[in-house]
Amino acid sequence: MDIAAFQQAALALLGPKGFITAADDLAPHLTDWRKLYHGKACGLALPASTDEAAALIKLTAQYNVPVVPQGGNTGLSGAATPDQSGQTLIVNMKRMNSIRALDTANDTIIVEAGCILQQIQEAAAAADRFFPLSLTAEGSCQIGGNLATNAGGINVLKYGNARALTLGLEVVLPDGSVLDALTTLHKDNTGYDLKQLFIGAEGTLGLITAASLKLFPAFRARATAFAGLASLEAAIPVLARLRAATADQLVSFELLPRFGLDLAQKNFNLRQPLDIAPDWVLLIEAATPSADFDIALALERALGEALEADEIVDGLMAESDAQRQALWGLREGIVNAQPKEGASIKHDIAVPVASIPAFVTEASAALARDFPTARLLCFGHVGDGNLHFNLLQPKGGDPAAFLGLAPAINRLVHDHVAAHKGSISAEHGIGQLRRGELQRLKSPVALGVMRALKAALDPDGRFNPGKVL
Ligand SMILES: Cc1cc2nc3c(=O)[nH]c(=O)nc-3n(C[C@H](O)[C@H](O)[C@H](O)COP(=O)(O)OP(=O)(O)OC[C@H]3O[C@@H](n4cnc5c(N)ncnc54)[C@H](O)[C@@H]3O)c2cc1C
Repeated sequence: MDIAAFQQAALALLGPKGFITAADDLAPHLTDWRKLYHGKACGLALPASTDEAAALIKLTAQYNVPVVPQGGNTGLSGAATPDQSGQTLIVNMKRMNSIRALDTANDTIIVEAGCILQQIQEAAAAADRFFPLSLTAEGSCQIGGNLATNAGGINVLKYGNARALTLGLEVVLPDGSVLDALTTLHKDNTGYDLKQLFIGAEGTLGLITAASLKLFPAFRARATAFAGLASLEAAIPVLARLRAATADQLVSFELLPRFGLDLAQKNFNLRQPLDIAPDWVLLIEAATPSADFDIALALERALGEALEADEIVDGLMAESDAQRQALWGLREGIVNAQPKEGASIKHDIAVPVASIPAFVTEASAALARDFPTARLLCFGHVGDGNLHFNLLQPKGGDPAAFLGLAPAINRLVHDHVAAHKGSISAEHGIGQLRRGELQRLKSPVALGVMRALKAALDPDGRFNPGKVL
């Protein structure tokens, strides 16, 4: 591998705006969001078109240069950070950020991979449509990264994750050829669904350059509620009750723990909305595209019935947009309070929805027994069976010593996940963070199929080496 010759050729191909080697410019691309992983690179490529991206990837094949695709670099598994070899090329898609087409008759939008997620939401809203993918990092993550991680977020309950929102993809394969599967068809059964290979592949099979995505009718009314649960177990019947009562227009069903709300109050002075302090609280949102359906009334009535059935102990409806923002602010406050509490060991797990209470009870009892000073902060998209099951360091303890416990804590949590036939990564992917656990817990047959796909598409193993497999 002649890195200097490759750098020269890449510069000639992309020009100084498209190929960067200056250390200061490279620096932000060499570390992940959580600053857990640090790497080196031989350059940062910023292709401005699919043709440029294809020519660049051909060049990397010619010079045998490894490639790390990168979007907004907000991933939480170290998947967009290069290794320490210094021979890897980072390909960041931010210059490919056009919306190529928006079709309100077909309800589709074709976007380039470097579009910021929020840009796509805004384009949809301007056309009186809704693009449902939504997560806290939406102001900086790119749709290419969202697709490569099969991102979830707060609207999965009704609309599914990134995979479910995608109709087609354009991908540059590791040999530099372009797979044009950028269909806007809602039905297409002509053989294998190739786009799905690249969604959730974390950049290990190719470089996504564009996507065709589904749009939905814009909301005409929205209702947001906060409800204290009588018990964690009660979350399950409340979910079923509210889905039915809102004609399945429930978009979010988030579980928040008392401890998290206390942390949000302590760190950000956020007011607690309920008069009492139950152990678990639900943040619920329903929304409808119909102007004739009184969704707030439907939600309020159903919560009243849940109160009578002793499933919830208290509840309130947001009466204004400011109140709605304040309720969501509490959830954000829980997320943002974590770094203020020192080191944390995070798990992004999924179990079948009905198993959530048993999983939480069993896993927290085991943690309390083996790691009694660690503080459990468990919250999440409980309507999707997805929990962020995080351990915060003991108060005043040594962060490094706590992080040293990560392998043992991970193993304990993931064994409980496996016992409930769950997943060790619901949203955040495998990246570098969960590689070992994937090998330990995924079936050998499934791993074999994954390796065969990798070998077929990337026989030299140049795409995002050291990630996932
Ligand atoms: C505050 C915060 C909140 C978050 N909340 C959520 C959440 O609710 N739900 C959720 O699912 N995630 C969440 N995340 C994680 C993260 O935002 C998502 O994983 C996001 O989809 C990553 O997008 P990105 O553009 O930043 O990708 P990056 O971090 O740059 O890359 C992630 C992966 O995608 C690959 N990749 C990037 N672009 C391409 C491309 N064009 N072609 C092929 N591969 C590519 C990279 O190689 C890497 O493997 C959150 C992160 C933060 C910081």
